[in-house]
Amino acid sequence: MSDTHDYDLVVVGGGPAGSSAAYAASKNGLKVAMIEKEESIAESVRTSGVTWIQNIKEFGIPDDCYNPVKNFVFYSPNNKVSIGDTVARSAVLDVRKTYRWLATQAEEEGTETFVDTFVKDVIKDESGKIIGVKATRYEKNIEFYGKVIIDASGFQSTVAKSMGLVKQWERFGAGAEYEAKVEHVQSDTWWLMVGQRYSPAGYAWIFPLGNNIARIGVGIGKPDSSVDPIARLKELIKNKEGPIADLGKIEPIEFHYGLIPNDGLSRKTVYDNLILVGDSAGQANPLVLEGIRYAIKFGRIAGEVAAKAIKSNDTSEKKLSEYEENWKKAIESKIKSAGKVQDRWIGLTDEDWDKELDIISELKPEEFLDFIKADFGLSNMLKLATSHPKLAVRQLFSMVKKAGKKE
Ligand SMILES: Cc1cc2nc3c(=O)[nH]c(=O)nc-3n(C[C@H](O)[C@H](O)[C@H](O)COP(=O)(O)OP(=O)(O)OC[C@H]3O[C@@H](n4cnc5c(N)ncnc54)[C@H](O)[C@@H]3O)c2cc1C
Repeated sequence: MSDTHDYDLVVVGGGPAGSSAAYAASKNGLKVAMIEKEESIAESVRTSGVTWIQNIKEFGIPDDCYNPVKNFVFYSPNNKVSIGDTVARSAVLDVRKTYRWLATQAEEEGTETFVDTFVKDVIKDESGKIIGVKATRYEKNIEFYGKVIIDASGFQSTVAKSMGLVKQWERFGAGAEYEAKVEHVQSDTWWLMVGQRYSPAGYAWIFPLGNNIARIGVGIGKPDSSVDPIARLKELIKNKEGPIADLGKIEPIEFHYGLIPNDGLSRKTVYDNLILVGDSAGQANPLVLEGIRYAIKFGRIAGEVAAKAIKSNDTSEKKLSEYEENWKKAIESKIKSAGKVQDRWIGLTDEDWDKELDIISELKPEEFLDFIKADFGLSNMLKLATSHPKLAVRQLFSMVKKAGKKE
């Protein structure tokens, strides 16, 4: 016997995408269930939490949820570049606090959250369209029915996979990090480390959270490299590589591990009665593999579009495609350009990286940030392709410009 629940919208996953979709849908008058398999929202952290203050403000995330950062240091095997800004434009999130704040926002608008509830299958009507999900909670079976289902289950894409619509991501990043108490760390600076020693296909990082706490981690591209990020992280800390040496004594507080899709925007994200959002949709910036701001932004749009569709009694793929058009317009060409830069970066030798850092050192702080955020087009970045005095910089940006052009 199963318990049965009826909702307008069923959201699978209580990460930033799910909470944001649930928030927008509830705010627009829908009866919403949000289902999360863990015992509480953000019980395990699977992200480093770097994001951008402009987005934080846009989303209304409270000031006590993040540590602002204004200096950026890049290490390659034999080079180092520091870019200092006058204002903080980046931030490291207190991930648990932020994700719980997002879920609370949804609940305050009326979303009902079901934690400790594992979605294991989908429910289809006789024509094969999704109309609900099957879950287990405290060993009991529950069925959740909805007019629209949002798959916000992250990397696993539980719902879309159960529908047979998608397969496992082929290209992805695997990352491991310690959140640790350290002896010395500047709280307004983050460090990225590139080259074979740090990560054969990716980068290592130190992100400060304030109060002498930092996240020290490594991300490695799969299947580009078979190196295990956990083993590499332990080696880097043991050998005190690069800026890790300056941290002094490192006392781990918590270990984080996660996977992030890196297959470009290859997935279709709307079907009859179904929307995919966040990591489930592959919405990540490939340059630094960040997706939290996209999960929140496009989660909210997914919730709004679902509300409109349900109110108009038309939850067809055609009606829901407004969501896909919206997010594609916002990021498709930028992600394509960023993919080109990522391809270039993955092929760099240690010596090439030393030279690449010289190019990066030519950028102004806002240009550097727009670049790694894949916000090409802002701050006249593309003008760099024609007007920058250094040939190497012009070449880098010409590549970005060409890739971003619509085919
Ligand atoms: C190592 C690493 C570092 C990263 N660093 C950054 C960074 O610095 N900045 C940044 O912006 N992004 C970063 N990212 C990416 C970022 O974490 C994701 O883009 C973001 O979390 C996507 O949000 P989401 O809501 O789509 O998915 P998730 O945050 O993964 O949330 C999905 C939720 O669904 C739940 N769920 C899954 N399956 C089921 C099921 N069957 N039943 C019920 N619930 C289920 C999960 O428990 C989870 O709570 C990083 C990723 C990794 C792996």
